[in-house]
Amino acid sequence: MKRIPYSRQCIDQDDIDAVVEVLKSDFLTQGSKVPEFEAAVTQYVGAKYGIAVSSGTAALHVACLALEIGPGDRVWTSPISFVASANAALYCGAEVDFVDIDPDTFNMSVSCLAAKLYEAARVGTLPKALIVVHMAGASADMQQIAALAASYDIAIIEDAAHALGGHYQGRPVGCCQYSVITCFSFHPVKSITSGEGGMAMTNCPQLAERMQLFRSHGITRDRQKMNRDDGPWYYEQQVLGFNYRMSDIHAALGISQLRKLDGFISKRIALASQYRDALVDLPLCLPVFSADSAWHLYVIRVKSATRRELLYQHLKRQGIDVNVHYIPVAVQPFYAIGADVPNAENHYSAALSLPLFAELSDDAMERIIGCLTRFDW
Ligand SMILES: *Cc1c(COP(=O)(O)O)cnc(C)c1O
Repeated sequence: MKRIPYSRQCIDQDDIDAVVEVLKSDFLTQGSKVPEFEAAVTQYVGAKYGIAVSSGTAALHVACLALEIGPGDRVWTSPISFVASANAALYCGAEVDFVDIDPDTFNMSVSCLAAKLYEAARVGTLPKALIVVHMAGASADMQQIAALAASYDIAIIEDAAHALGGHYQGRPVGCCQYSVITCFSFHPVKSITSGEGGMAMTNCPQLAERMQLFRSHGITRDRQKMNRDDGPWYYEQQVLGFNYRMSDIHAALGISQLRKLDGFISKRIALASQYRDALVDLPLCLPVFSADSAWHLYVIRVKSATRRELLYQHLKRQGIDVNVHYIPVAVQPFYAIGADVPNAENHYSAALSLPLFAELSDDAMERIIGCLTRFDW
């Protein structure tokens, strides 16, 4: 019996042809495909600028660098996320702390944020930035979070690695209405893939320019920005940047995938609604259904940690690859900073992600639902 993965990419002949075309062209990197991909994503989400980089993690890193986050600064993020959300701030030498989640949405809790900000203002430990994660593809409550952040003069970066193709208040995630920078990932499990890759969206020309500098060694070729001009060969390093460039091979795949994004998302929404209808009578807590979510993950919560482990093993034995999203970053031994995040810990003890990806077949879906229904609840 074929294993059903919890997620996987959907690659068709158009994707393959797009990549082959670049391989036969003059430029494998720094050609026309990266700007073309940037323009396409920028237009899709309705932001002004998009800076393509080598991964979603690199996007978060250049976002933090552009905001001049450094030693002595604090950054707060959500504990229910992939480690990259918090690591990006550590790369810059900042200190990381975690705001507990809302148990129903798994996103940063507005009331926990309000309480934590109030206390931090009192003792003088306010953060410089928040990295807000759109867990499982559903947007966090950005309007409320942005209102709170604004009242303390804190910048917001959206970690939208799960949410490309999702919406908030009728607008695409990534338009940066409530943040200064939004970061996407194009890892194969995300809504579209470029193999590896990421993009940072912004409406601010200065931030866009700084992120472009940091993605390529801190080097500029813009004569107007230079301190000297030795001649037409001259380029100038102005900050300590990285090689975080995306290649044209990856960008070509991204462009081809983006054309299919709406179809992928419709399929994910349909699968999520199928899960909801089929599982509603089981002793489970199902995720809030919303057609605005990009449905990166379908996270159910099982009533007890013991049941969760038995269900995990039951499904694995039947060839169904489930997963746990996430181990709270705050309790990773590397972080273990004694953050007070009880909702995140409760979530961790109950959560289980069922397979969800655009090419999940009807047969596979039937097998998964059958296994869940037959489980000794
Ligand atoms: C995938 C992911 C990232 C990192 O993206 P990469 O492209 O793998 O570097 C960051 N944050 C979250 C929430 C993610 O799921």
